[in-house]
Amino acid sequence: MANIELRGITKIFDKKVRAVNDVSLTIADQEFMVLLGPSGCGKTTLMRMIAGLEYPEAGRIVIGGGDVTDLPPRKRNISMVFQSYAVFPHLTVFDNIAFGLKMNKTGKAEIVRRTEEAAELVQLSPYLERYSAQLSGGQRQRVAVARAIVMEPAVLLMDEPLSNLDALLRLNFRAELKRLVAELKTTTIYVTHDQVEAMSLGDRIAVMRDGKIVQCGTPMEVYERPATEFIGGFIGSPPMNFLKVRLERVDGELRAMLGSHGLPAPAMLADHADRDLLLGIRAENIEATPVDGVASQDGLVSKTLVVELLGAQMLVTGEIDGQGIKVLVRADAPIKPGVDLLLHPELDKLRWFDAESRNEIVVS
Ligand code: ATP
Repeated sequence: MANIELRGITKIFDKKVRAVNDVSLTIADQEFMVLLGPSGCGKTTLMRMIAGLEYPEAGRIVIGGGDVTDLPPRKRNISMVFQSYAVFPHLTVFDNIAFGLKMNKTGKAEIVRRTEEAAELVQLSPYLERYSAQLSGGQRQRVAVARAIVMEPAVLLMDEPLSNLDALLRLNFRAELKRLVAELKTTTIYVTHDQVEAMSLGDRIAVMRDGKIVQCGTPMEVYERPATEFIGGFIGSPPMNFLKVRLERVDGELRAMLGSHGLPAPAMLADHADRDLLLGIRAENIEATPVDGVASQDGLVSKTLVVELLGAQMLVTGEIDGQGIKVLVRADAPIKPGVDLLLHPELDKLRWFDAESRNEIVVS
């Protein structure tokens, strides 16, 4: 059992940079947790504290029920894979993978068995006698992963392990990594600033900003119900649309108005009447039809600025009363720049945010 509990972890550099600020998080045994956030938000620092490479100013780290905060890295039963491959070029693939086992004075037969097994898992068996200098970037990164898993750690920590690979290799290796980790059943923490990687790999994603975890949930939860405007904008491509609307009562019904048009708003928002709100909606949750003649009062009218063919879909960039909006439509939709569109967002997909705090107003 290697669940991980972070209890109120804080790290301050040079007495002023609060890199990690009172972070608490529980990661279940065998869970794949992704730490996601923009550059400088504290992901690596949090990871290094779990590994024992940094010491927190406050808080405790508990792994498998035991407090490891004061233990050195080698006593934590943890393996790490870094962004740079950190593979020894003058050693063969076999010796690279076996390195930790040799340091631990593991028996020779066991070293051979475990090293061959780990090489098999990362599909490097044919390369065991090669020197690492003779490998491609992707192969070297697989050596680094094999070297970590051969130790059979309770916890696997990975810090942007794919970021040095080219796009195609990244895509393939991502799938391999997913299969591998599922097979290993090791508790894994994975740091990335790539939201696609986070969505594809994580059982859960902890989104970080300015040293804090601002939301933690399954990829779908974080994607569909971002807790703040920042999260909705950071996760998803294109990012979630945010429109500034005015909540008004029209004929006794609450409506979110944008210019002369509007959408029905849930009655539970009644307390926010006559105030500005931010309306969040994903590009794929909007139905768009060209406006013919007089526009109906329901829906929003957007002027099409740009259309981009993405393959199966088309991304339409438009403008509603000076505010930008992106809509995903079928690739063959009859939409061209200059065309006015009537937009009907799926009402149950609308998310409402406070215009001041930029936090979601939970209405259901
Ligand atoms: P990236 O994705 O760019 O690696 P990150 O989210 O991993 O970013 P960290 O590397 O954890 O961010 O850094 C968090 C903050 O702490 C940053 O402001 C960084 O400049 C600062 N920081 C990190 N390490 C040190 C250090 N050794 N000394 C001083 N400040 C540091």
